[in-house]
Amino acid sequence: MNRVMLTGVRPSGNLTLGNYLGAIKNFVDRQESYKSYIFIADLHAVTSYKEPNFLKESVYNCIAMYLACGVDENKTIIFKQSDVLEHGTFGFIMTFQTKMGELSRMTQFKAKSQGCGKEGVDTGLFVYPTLMVADILLYNTDIVPVGKDQQQHVELTRDLAERFNKRYGNTLNMPDVYVDVIGNKILNLQNPAEKMNKSDDGNNKGTIFLMDDLNVARKKIMSSVTDNYNKVHFDEDLQPGISNLMSILAKITGETFESIEKRYEGKGYGDFKKEVADVVCSLLENIQERFKKYNNKELLDKILFNGANDARIDASETLNRVRKSMGLN
Ligand code: AMP
Repeated sequence: MNRVMLTGVRPSGNLTLGNYLGAIKNFVDRQESYKSYIFIADLHAVTSYKEPNFLKESVYNCIAMYLACGVDENKTIIFKQSDVLEHGTFGFIMTFQTKMGELSRMTQFKAKSQGCGKEGVDTGLFVYPTLMVADILLYNTDIVPVGKDQQQHVELTRDLAERFNKRYGNTLNMPDVYVDVIGNKILNLQNPAEKMNKSDDGNNKGTIFLMDDLNVARKKIMSSVTDNYNKVHFDEDLQPGISNLMSILAKITGETFESIEKRYEGKGYGDFKKEVADVVCSLLENIQERFKKYNNKELLDKILFNGANDARIDASETLNRVRKSMGLN
């Protein structure tokens, strides 16, 4: 039987170079070797209010971007999470297998509740990890390629699958997380203490969006924050900015850090940044060219319709198995 790979993305804004290098590229590089699923996590997007038309447009934008990044609609099942109702039911069931403490320890909840206190945090932000658990387990997933920030969710998924199987007998498949060594946390170009995010406090100067105008993207890289060592060297603690640019270059080209360091021995940061900018711009140019082809709602609706039909078959099979194990059938 084919092994299964699954990943998802929230349609909550324009995709970034971080999304591409941390998750999408790893998926695209492996989509031929697995039975592959990608879902647009629209239910996760509405854990906080989204203007409905904005949400709809974001979903289209997200799928078109995925396709432009190399996800192949003939090899991968692409669907919208809310089109497969099994996600909601199974997510609800998985909430009952979860302890308050486990959800309280989730990074996002902890970060938000530190800011405004637990009372003010939306319950969606508290319980959404159990929906994520369901998203993964519904498809008998073997491998989940994600960025480092999502590793915790897959670990929770494994804990809950094990708990469920102990309680109700062997029902759920145990997934593994795939976090690549290189590019698993692309940093903000202006503030390398922070992850590169879709929303960026500093006028988006630290975030490269896949749809950025090439001149704008080049400018962002050329003016990225570095250090005074003046040595192209990989050291995430002492030289986070330069190490981040090295990760970007290495992840796109496949070159090793040692080889990059050797090529830039005795040279300044200007030449190095220029090469990173060239490589990133050429990647963006490619993606943006392909995006034009996929920016077609009729085509995207068809892909989503077929994807949801395929996904539903697998999801309902798992949910039926779960219901049987629990005595709910
Ligand atoms: P999100 O945009 O939060 O829905 O994330 C979609 C995927 O992109 C997840 O697998 C994240 O881990 C990954 N991701 C998001 N930002 C970054 C980043 N700066 N570096 C590496 N991976 C990222």
